[in-house]
Amino acid sequence: MAKRHECGVCGSSFDSKRGLHVHKAKKHADEDVDDYEVEEILDLLDDSMEEALNIKEKKEKLEEKLQEKHSEEKKLEHEVEDLREEKEKMRSKLGDLKEEHEELEMQVESLKDSKADLEAKKDTLQGEVETLKKKKDEVEEELSRKKDVLTRLRHQIYEFDKNLKE
Ligand SMILES: [Zn+2]
Repeated sequence: MAKRHECGVCGSSFDSKRGLHVHKAKKHADEDVDDYEVEEILDLLDDSMEEALNIKEKKEKLEEKLQEKHSEEKKLEHEVEDLREEKEKMRSKLGDLKEEHEELEMQVESLKDSKADLEAKKDTLQGEVETLKKKKDEVEEELSRKKDVLTRLRHQIYEFDKNLKE
C-alpha cells in the first residue's frame, strides 16, 4: 500500500512528498515558514525511523534464518555423529562375529582331532583284543596237549600196573 502524504494545513493528501511540498508552496505560502520546516524535519525523521525499523526487522529476520541454519547444521552434525557411532558399533559386532566364527572353526578342528584320536585308540584296542584272543588260543592248545600227555601217562601207568599183577 502506497503511503499518502497529508497536508497538515488543509488535509489534502498526495502520492509523494514532493507533491505535498509543491502543494504547500503554492497554496499555503503565507503560512508560518518555521512550522513548515519543523513539519518537514519531522517527516524526514519519521521516514528515517521507519527505514531504520525496516532494516532492523530485516536484520532480525536474517539472524533468525541464520539461527535456523545453525540449528539445522547442529542437527546434521548430530545425525552424522550418530551414524558414525552406529558404523563403529557394526564394525565391532562384525569383529565379534569373526572371532566367534574362528573359535567355532578351532572347536571343529579340535573335535576332528579327538575323533581321529578315538579311532586310533579303537584300532589299538582291537589289536590288543586280537592278540589276547591268540594268546588264549595258544594257552588252550597247550593245555589240551598237556592233558593228552597226562592221559597217555595214566594209561602207561595202568598198563604197567596190570603187567605187574599178572
Ligand atoms: Zn494544504
